[in-house]
Amino acid sequence: MRCNSWLALGKLLQLRLGRSRRQISRGIALAARPTDKNDRATIRRTLHYFWGVTRQKMGAFVLSIVSSVGYIALLTFANTYVMGLIVDRVQASPVSADQVLPVFGPYVLALLVVNAVGQTLSKLQDYSVYKLEINGDYQLSRLCFDTLSNQSMTFHNSRFGGSLVSQTSRFVSGYSGLIDVVTYSLWPTLASIVLTVGILAPIAPLFVIILVAMLVLYVFIAYGMYRRILPLSAEASRAQNKLSGVLSDAVTNILAVKTYGREDYERGLFTTADREAMAAENTNMRATMRRGFTTSALITIIMFVVSIFVVGGNAWFGISAGTLVMMFTYTYNLTMRFNYFNSMMQRINRALGDATEMTRVLDEPTLVADDTDAKPLEVTDGRIDFEGLRFRYPDAPQDDYVFEDLNLHIPAGQRVGLVGRSGSGKTTLTKLLLRLDDVQEGRVLVDGQDVSHCTQQSLRRQVAYVPQEALLFHRSIRENIAYGKPGATEEEIRRAAEEANALEFIERLPDGFDTMVGERGVKLSGGQRQRVAIARAILVDAPILVLDEATSALDSESEALVQGALENLMRGRTSIVVAHRLSTVVDADRIYLLSDGRIIESGTHAELMERSQIYRDVYDSQMREEGEQHGQS
Ligand code: ADP
Repeated sequence: MRCNSWLALGKLLQLRLGRSRRQISRGIALAARPTDKNDRATIRRTLHYFWGVTRQKMGAFVLSIVSSVGYIALLTFANTYVMGLIVDRVQASPVSADQVLPVFGPYVLALLVVNAVGQTLSKLQDYSVYKLEINGDYQLSRLCFDTLSNQSMTFHNSRFGGSLVSQTSRFVSGYSGLIDVVTYSLWPTLASIVLTVGILAPIAPLFVIILVAMLVLYVFIAYGMYRRILPLSAEASRAQNKLSGVLSDAVTNILAVKTYGREDYERGLFTTADREAMAAENTNMRATMRRGFTTSALITIIMFVVSIFVVGGNAWFGISAGTLVMMFTYTYNLTMRFNYFNSMMQRINRALGDATEMTRVLDEPTLVADDTDAKPLEVTDGRIDFEGLRFRYPDAPQDDYVFEDLNLHIPAGQRVGLVGRSGSGKTTLTKLLLRLDDVQEGRVLVDGQDVSHCTQQSLRRQVAYVPQEALLFHRSIRENIAYGKPGATEEEIRRAAEEANALEFIERLPDGFDTMVGERGVKLSGGQRQRVAIARAILVDAPILVLDEATSALDSESEALVQGALENLMRGRTSIVVAHRLSTVVDADRIYLLSDGRIIESGTHAELMERSQIYRDVYDSQMREEGEQHGQS
């Protein structure tokens, strides 16, 4: 019986189930493909992760089984058993009033013990669940966090940050959901089957055979209906996904919606998607209700057959009244458990389904990983060499190489500008220096050390990166500046702010360095954000600097301040500046002009102006653009 149940369960676990309106996930689309091998493998992997954290609390896991089984055995089975004995005793011979206590006292005492122990077990059951879930939630969250933070930028660039966050929380809640359903439903159901059959088989074998046959039939019918509903549930989830997509698209672009006055249009899109979701939910709900009525009718039929046995049990088989009470109660308990069989399966599927997407993320190979014998990078002078680079992004088509054979040597302490049209490979080159991706061929060397053999942390601590968009956390200005140097003193932070031309505006803020900057720094202006980011890089004091110059148009005062801050930052460091405006690099020691991943010209600004027509064209067009911008402002 136990074996059959596990087989049935195993099969059911392979299925995916549609979710309620609230549960919006891509994973649910899998419900329509119940035999998909990948899904089975993913479920196995999910269970592997879940078992990994459960095993850490083996004591609590064993306690959860013992307490669940003990709880059912005592409160449902032992209670009824004692009640059966009381009925038999009442029936055997009348008991006078003064004999009640001596005769029934032991039964009452037995009931007291059974209930006291049963209740204690119920609390132990809760305790074990808490223990498992608290540990599991903590460990699994950390596992997700570590995996996500170790993943490459290529990985992150092709995913929505928000969806990774929700996948993490669904993975963790999937674990809690599974522990809940296994402890509070699965173990009690299995225990009920074993105990009912075990206790009743010697007393009424025919009854047990008929009961088991009816329950098996019930499972077959319920399972068949359940499978038919799966595509409907999947459809409802798809419609729900679409609805949430429409909503999030409109909300994230709310500024565009408002400034173009397209609220009615967006509302129209939302209403259509909402109607479709509602219709799909209604179809799903009707099928679920039909199934509910059918399975309830089956349970009623089973209870009808049971009642015939109960009324005739004494006359046909000589079964005592007390045993008949037991038979009825045990069977009723079992049928009730089967009545919730489908919902139990749904909950198990839902828990595993919730975890699916994160399981796939966890199983994805880390694209950029430290060698086992990786050493910390030791920068002495700050010389950089790109040697024979051949690189394409891991998610780009096979032959779509950004660099085929790129060589570039930057002497220590030089200030180098990278210029070229958008898409020519400037940013990619800086990312390879930071080893945000690995090259397919060639080497990136810092002071003669191949960065792919150095630890990523040591590399990135020595190459300060100031991106186009300042990456600020929703924390205080102080914390943002000190991000790369956690133990920085107040004085160091102030000095960095001063050098970054940021001190003045920070001191004018009501909360000064304690000012919270808002999500991604929205409460600061573009120029202020950049100066905070520059102060951060100044404080880190890394020997090498990578600067992806901001393209956002700043007003001329901000621009001058940012420019001044950058000058301070670049002093004495090997600096690579991705220049979107040539004005930033006119003073560079050397400028490289990139086109389609190749260096087509190099030299100082004056040299390039003299001999490169392309450079002159780029320069002239930028001068024109800047002139127009200043003219407008
Ligand atoms: P630039 O900085 O000169 O504008 P990039 O280095 O950003 O150019 O891009 C070089 C090429 O690499 C472009 O063709 C671009 O489409 C491609 N590319 C950039 N980032 C990625 C990425 N994460 N995945 C795939 N291709 C990318």
